[in-house]
Amino acid sequence: MLVVDYTKDFVDGKLPVGEPAILLEEAICRITEQYVQDGDYVVMAVDLHEEGDTLHPESKLFPPHNIRGTEGRELYGKLAEVYEQHREQIYWMDKTRYSAFCGTNLEQKLRERGIQEIAIVGVCTDICVLHTAVDAYNKGYSITIYEDGVASFNPEGHAWALGHFRATLGANVTNSR
Ligand code: ZN
Repeated sequence: MLVVDYTKDFVDGKLPVGEPAILLEEAICRITEQYVQDGDYVVMAVDLHEEGDTLHPESKLFPPHNIRGTEGRELYGKLAEVYEQHREQIYWMDKTRYSAFCGTNLEQKLRERGIQEIAIVGVCTDICVLHTAVDAYNKGYSITIYEDGVASFNPEGHAWALGHFRATLGANVTNSR
């Protein structure tokens, strides 16, 4: 189970989704705890940028966010407590691109465990969740997206991405309730 970018900067900080992301807190915490309790592999995929990194492609697209060592990179709300309570069972994985697979060892971690199905929650539906889901599809994973566990600053992009997950990536788009 992947929790993508549910950090302070992306919820209500430097690059905020705002209200739609704030409203995910309960569902993301509940879904994360459920997967931990079931003994599943849970990953916090967390964006990481370096101060003043002008060569990073996002520097031309977005204001600085999730800078190493800043509060903005902390998990938002109660998810921070959930993570602290289950540190041994949750893998904290820094990532530097939209996709949690890009430049990380996520695929090795999943293959080592024989994992073939991935569930995704977090933000933004139409950016980091989307790019992660596309990579998962191309690598042959089955995908579940919790529609009450993802959000975007862009309602149209959010709706489009949910349709894309379902119709083009063959994902199981479902509600956690
Ligand atoms: Zn970023």
